[in-house]
Amino acid sequence: MKDYQIDVQLSSTKKEKPAFNQLSFGTVFTDHMFVMDYTKGKGWHDARIIPYQPITLDPAAIIFHYGQTVFEGLKAYKTKEDEVVLFRPDENMKRLNRSNQRLCIPEIDEEFALFALKKLISIDKDWVPNVEGTSLYVRPFIFADEPYLGVSPSNTYKFMIILSPVGAYYKEGINPVKIAVESEFVRAVKGGTGNAKTAGNYAASLKAQEEAEAEGFSQVLWLDGREHKYIEEVGSMNVFFKIKGEVITPELNGSILEGITRKSVLELLHFWNIPVVERKISIDEIFQAYHASELEEAFGTGTAAVISPIGELSWQGEKIIINEAKTGELSKKIYDSLTSIQTGSVEDPFGWRV
Ligand code: PMP
Repeated sequence: MKDYQIDVQLSSTKKEKPAFNQLSFGTVFTDHMFVMDYTKGKGWHDARIIPYQPITLDPAAIIFHYGQTVFEGLKAYKTKEDEVVLFRPDENMKRLNRSNQRLCIPEIDEEFALFALKKLISIDKDWVPNVEGTSLYVRPFIFADEPYLGVSPSNTYKFMIILSPVGAYYKEGINPVKIAVESEFVRAVKGGTGNAKTAGNYAASLKAQEEAEAEGFSQVLWLDGREHKYIEEVGSMNVFFKIKGEVITPELNGSILEGITRKSVLELLHFWNIPVVERKISIDEIFQAYHASELEEAFGTGTAAVISPIGELSWQGEKIIINEAKTGELSKKIYDSLTSIQTGSVEDPFGWRV
């Protein structure tokens, strides 16, 4: 790997670390952060690792008004041998650039970004928790910081990476969730920004999530924005169904985010010779499969939970219980395989661990 230039200014004081067996999600941040600037005509410049601190922005910065921003999310784990490992981080950098293209943000050098990420984590490696199920959540993000109220792409940007030790997603074993099928609100539409990891998609999802939570559901199942018929995602996860022995996940259509867990699950299923297809699948088909006793499992996939089994689906006043609201055999097998590759407890035949 090239020896890229990053200026390092270490923090003179170290923050007190939280108890690693009592971590929640995204509330505590490490001692350092990565920052790099972009200026039109000059490109990306001044890469630096500095003490974690607030940043100053002009109130007219484009990010505040028009949301020109992208982000990523991945995790670093500590192995039993005390090594720090990442799961397919090159895929996150690729996706960051795909999001950049959609948001008219200048692309980053993926190899350099990965180098910066590794350097930052190595400086803050004592913050990678070693309690089972915990990890160091890595949040790279880019935003438009030019002060300008016109609606046009910014001439300046900041690329930053921050780190946050996070607790186990499942503290008492993996747990099937209750999901409401969302028939009114949509997360994204074809031609919109659904396949980019950008703030607006998440802002657009809050209302439905809030209403579903108030009714006792943990997430919503998103349908397509045109016909409210085809399944897209579940909460901020991709979604899979097992019907009559075949695994089905919605095909990428421009409004679905291409998850790295989704991609890994597809590759695992192919590796195991389990039948799997990527195609359009309607919510009607799911309920029909249920009534024909052919719906065997349903689960979401994403960095946070890895696998999140769906125990209950509610749609148009009807509630169905999937697999007796228990974690399915396949869901469990995928969960165990992925988490053991991620945490370094088994050989990694795919070369996913870095
Ligand atoms: N869909 C959305 C909308 C997401 O925010 C995420 C989380 N990044 C995913 C799917 C799952 O992606 P991944 O497996 O890369 O975490």
